[in-house]
Order: sequence, then structure tokens, then C-alpha cells
Amino acid sequence: MSDEMNLRDPAAYFGCNVFSDSVMRERLPKNVYKSVQRTQQLGIALDKDIADVVANAMKDWAIEKGATHYTHWFQPMTGVTAEKHDAFLNPAGKGAVIPEFSGKELVKGESDASSFPSGGLRSTFEARGYTAWDPTSCAFIKDNSLYIPTAFCSYTGEILDKKTPLLRSMDVLSEQALRILRLFGNTKATRVTTTVGPEQEYFLIDKKYYDAREDLVITGRTLFGAKPPKGQELEDHYYGNIKQRVSDYMKELDEELWKLGIYAKTKHNEVAPSQHELAPVFTTSNIAADHNQLTMEIMKKTAVKHGLYCLLHEKPFEGVNGSGKHNNWSMSSNDGQNLLDPGDTPIDNLQFLTFLCAIIKGVHEYAPLLRLSAASAGNDHRLGANEAPPAIVSVFVGTDLQEVLDALENGTEVKSADNKTFRVGVDALPDFPKDATDRNRTSPFAFTGNKFEFRMLGSSDSISCTNTILNTIVAEELSLIADKLEGSANFREDLMSVLVDIIKEHKQIIYNGNGYSEEWLNEAVNVRGLPNLVSTVDALPEYVSPKSIALFEKFHIYTAAELRSRTDILLDNYSKVINIEALTMIDIVRKKILPAVLRYSREICETGIAKQSLGIPADVEKDIASELSGLTEGIYKETNDLEEKVAEAQKLPSGLDSARFYRDEVFPQMQSLRATVDEAEVNVSDDVWPLVPYTTLLFSV
Ligand code: ADP
Ligand code: MG
Repeated sequence: MSDEMNLRDPAAYFGCNVFSDSVMRERLPKNVYKSVQRTQQLGIALDKDIADVVANAMKDWAIEKGATHYTHWFQPMTGVTAEKHDAFLNPAGKGAVIPEFSGKELVKGESDASSFPSGGLRSTFEARGYTAWDPTSCAFIKDNSLYIPTAFCSYTGEILDKKTPLLRSMDVLSEQALRILRLFGNTKATRVTTTVGPEQEYFLIDKKYYDAREDLVITGRTLFGAKPPKGQELEDHYYGNIKQRVSDYMKELDEELWKLGIYAKTKHNEVAPSQHELAPVFTTSNIAADHNQLTMEIMKKTAVKHGLYCLLHEKPFEGVNGSGKHNNWSMSSNDGQNLLDPGDTPIDNLQFLTFLCAIIKGVHEYAPLLRLSAASAGNDHRLGANEAPPAIVSVFVGTDLQEVLDALENGTEVKSADNKTFRVGVDALPDFPKDATDRNRTSPFAFTGNKFEFRMLGSSDSISCTNTILNTIVAEELSLIADKLEGSANFREDLMSVLVDIIKEHKQIIYNGNGYSEEWLNEAVNVRGLPNLVSTVDALPEYVSPKSIALFEKFHIYTAAELRSRTDILLDNYSKVINIEALTMIDIVRKKILPAVLRYSREICETGIAKQSLGIPADVEKDIASELSGLTEGIYKETNDLEEKVAEAQKLPSGLDSARFYRDEVFPQMQSLRATVDEAEVNVSDDVWPLVPYTTLLFSV
């Protein structure tokens, strides 16, 4: 499609840069197309001849669209995507070249894995890794390259990426969910897919102010900055009208995403000034994960075109809300049911309640795993800070569903709004409000009518880890339920008793109240005994608890060694992030802040001396100068202390001890230095203060 395509009609260009199902149907011989479909649905490998035909068709299509290169695109443990581009060119003798792309090049790529984090899985003599085509996620064109979504493994087969475990977890969930569907007499469904719609929050600020802040450029967040006179307290930004510059940006962002087949749907202003949100229509989990990575990348790229910068950090500014990513999650069967839709008949209600109970139990049993799936140095600023859910995992079901669960547990009846009575499993239950009016925004894991919304994720996180864990824990609970009920002579009766047992044992995880409140913190920890893994450093070791290893090994998602490697990588990342932040602070203080405060002090002192020489009292100058002198001393001392702590931290071997030291010693010292610097900021004239102030950063777009 040409550049002059009609951008006003998304239907005319939606997915135009995607080697989609319809392109394949059009361009592949029928038998080849069928094989690809089989591969997509059942995961059967393509044979070489077929792969050659697909590769050739892809190459022709890509070249017609202006592509000159192809790349295997993968998601290593760095948190961002990786790519290495090869030209389609091949020498054809006598200086001529012909474009070539074989099935082998499509299906498998060799890659030097030595510079990607492996957490000790890969020794240097075995530095090779390979990428393997994921045919369930469509290839696409971006910047004149054909992008092929791939999984990334070491040569000896250990997983080094985020896609492989997600794909495995989708398979195991499908297998176990199908066992449950069979128990309910469903013989048609052959696959259960998990679906995800991630809502993405972000900040947009002026690029020139971004460039002027070393801390934003290097760490993605402001390490200093006094609170502006106006923050978010008026709440006038949420859903407020969108400024022209932002609206132009959002429009172009939508267009770019639509061309890549990403269903960007909803956009609005968020609570904090300069904060916005984009939500796509949900799709299959692994495609949603790929699309979310692409969305974050295109958000950043498009912003620069508009003289803006898109901040995806979880907490770019202190004192205003940070950014998260709500992971809306459900399961659907290929006979067209959303398995988290309560349904209209008693048997559908029971099937729904079975899936619901499995989820409740899974979340209770494996709360620490869900918590760690949202753990990062950036997200530690949000969780539990009264702007995002607490670090304690709980489940919100809402009042209507709570009544149903209570009735089921106690063998009593449910009363509807018009006072009719219903018996769970016997009568069709009254409608659950789809758009529950009592929507609880403070719960980390909330049922929202026909899906669950996991709200702990940070804005810059990949959604893969969360969904891998969610799928696996639900698969585990479904498998245990199926084990109990397969072969049962009294299905309904036995099912009811299984469900009642689950509710009795696991209702501790259900909480429908205000998750931000002190009472909840107290009740959750002291009465209900729920884990409160406050920081990343508390959460990460849960990956390698015996219970976690047993779970992931049972379903062949990760080996114990792979879990250990992931834990090491993430702990190491945590330490590195704080180390870089601390060094950036020291640099900014020494080179910018101290010199500025000293210069300003001199100005005041000189004024005072001049006044005194004329016989004018200089008490005010003296006051200000001595206050500044105190602050200078404080800043100087705090910076030296921070430097010492960092030096001490760097001596520790990487791992848990190092991460703990960064959390307990380095980070508090950073906070304390910041407080002093922020106090200096409000006492120093704007024209000498060397950092762009919060008001300008937050209110200038
Ligand atoms: P909110 O009120 O939480 O901001 P939105 O309507 O903005 O809700 O976002 C809801 C998200 O949930 C959308 O991305 C939507 O596509 C997604 N969603 C809806 N149904 C499902 C489902 N069955 N599975 C997964 N995600 C879903
Ligand atoms: Mg939401």
C-alpha cells in the first residue's frame, strides 16, 4: 500500500504490514497454507519443503513492500526485544545478486548468545544460541525489514527468553482446561486459548526538557525534583480533553499500530498530569505479548517525531502517580465460549464456577509467584504506595459473585434484586453485572464481568512472565480438579463438594474492600496470613522455592536450573538499576547541583557585603546564606556517604546479598540525598537551578 493510502479509513490499511492469515491464504498453495495452519494450531513442525515455499512467499511479499532485510525478532531476558538484520541478497555470480530467503533461514537462526543474560546457564565455550520461528505470531514489516517472531534458546536447549515459557504455559493450560470441558460433556472444543488485553500507561513530556535532564536520559526517572505547587490533586487530567499536540501524537500512534495489525482501541488521559493510557482489543496471550512489546517501541519512536518523549518508567516523577499495565486475562475455547463468562444455564454456571474456583485456589496457593511477576526496581516505587495495588495479592470478586460463593459454601440460596431465590447448580443464576458498578480499582486481581484484571504489573514490564505464571498456576489447579472428578459416578455431587472444599480453604484470598487501606494491610498479614513481599528483593527468591520448582517442572515450563538463572538475572538487574541511579545522582550533584548552590550563595554573600559597606543592614542575606551553607554541607556529606555505600555494594558478589545491600543501604541514602537536594531547589533562584523543574516537565505539553 502506498504512502498516500487513505489513513482515514483504518479498515483499508489495518494490518497492511503483516504477513497475516489472509495474505497467506492468498499467496500460498492450498496444501502449504493448510500445513501452516496445522502448525499454528497444533504446534507440529513444518517440513523443509513446505518451509521453503512459505519463506519464498514471505520474501516476495516483503520485497514488494520495500523490505530489503529480514530479522529474527526475539525477547531475551533484558526486557527489551532483540534483532539482527540480514539482507535478502545473495551473490549470483559475475557481480550480480538475487534476493533469497530459504525455509531454513525462516525456521531457525543462529545467534551469538554470549552477550544476552543467561544467569549462568551458558558457559562461554557454549556461547551459541538459536532462534526458532513462532508461527503462531505473524511476521511483519517495520523499517524496511521483515520481522519474524522467534523463541530464543541456548544451543543445549535451555530457554533464554520470555516467549518460550509463555507458549509452553498456553499449551499446558489448554490441555488441562480441555479435561474440565470434557467433564462437562463438551466434545467439540479442541483448544483453549488464553487471551490478554494489556492497558498501557505512559507519560509524554517535551523532548527538549527530557534531553536536558541527565537523570531521565540515563535512568528513565527523575532522581531529583521538588514537588510542584500543583500536582494531580485537582484530578482534572483524568479523562480530560486531550491537547492538540498529544492528540496528533495519539492519532499517528494509532495509525502505526493499526498498520502492524495491533488493535489499538481506547486512548485517554490518566490521573497524573502528562499521563495517558492506550488499551488494545484483547487477543491470544503470546500475540498480545508481542504486540505490547511493539506498542511500547512504536510509542517511543512516534513521540520523537512529535518533539515529545514517551516515558515508560513506573515512576518517572515523585509525588504524582506512576504508570502500570493492567493485564486483562481470560480463557476461551475454540468452540466459541469465554470460560470466564458466567453463562445462562445452571450447568454453564457450574462450569464457570469451576474455572473461577481453580483461579481462586491458584492465586491463593501461588500468590508469591504472581507478586514476583510484577517485581522490578521501578515497580517497587508503586506497589503499596496508594496509587497501585498493595504488594499483597488478593482476589476481588464483587458483591454479587461473593453471594453466589457464600451460598455454594453454605448450601443456601441466592436472592436476586427482585427477591427471587436461586440454588447454585440447580437453577440458572441471576445475571452478573457485566460492567460491575462496584468496580474495585484497589485490588491487585479483580474479576471484571468476564475476565480477571491483574493490576500489579509495571508499565515497562513485558507481560510474558505474568501470563506464564497465571497460565501455569491455573493449569495446575484445573489438573487437580480433573484428577478428582474424572471417572466420578456422581459428577454433579462430587463437583459441588470439590468446589465447596476449595471455597472453604481458599476464601482467605478473597477481599472485596479497599486494598489501599491500613486495615487491609493489617488484616491480610496478621489475620489471614497472606504473604506481603514488599520489595523485589523479597519477591524474587520465591521463583526457586521448592513449591515453585515442583510446579514448573511438573508442567515442563522451566527446569530448576532455568528458574535459578532467571532469579539471578532479575536480582542482578535490580542491583544494576540502583547502582546506575546512585552513580547518576552523584554525578549530577558534583557537576551541577553543588556548583549551582555555591554560585548562588556567593551572589547572596556578595550582595550582603555590598549592602553592609553602604551601611545597610544585611540580615536577610545572612539568613539565606547560612541556610544555603547548611544545605551545601548536607548535600556534600550525603553525596560522600552515598559514594561510600556504592563502593561497598560493588564489592559484594552479585546475587541476593548484593540486591539486599542496594535496597537497605544504598537506596535509603539516595532518598536522603534527594530530600536535601529538593530542599535546596526551593531555596535557590530558578535561573541558577541546573535542572528543569517539575512544573515545566509536567505541564508544558
Ligand atoms: P478499564 O475500565 O479497566 O480501563 P478498558 O475497557 O479500558 O477497561 O480495558 C479493558 C481491557 O480488557 C481491553 O484491553 C479489553 O480488550 C480487555 N478484555 C476484554 N475482554 C477480554 C477477554 N475476554 N480476555 C482478555 N482481555 C479482555
Ligand atoms: Mg483497567
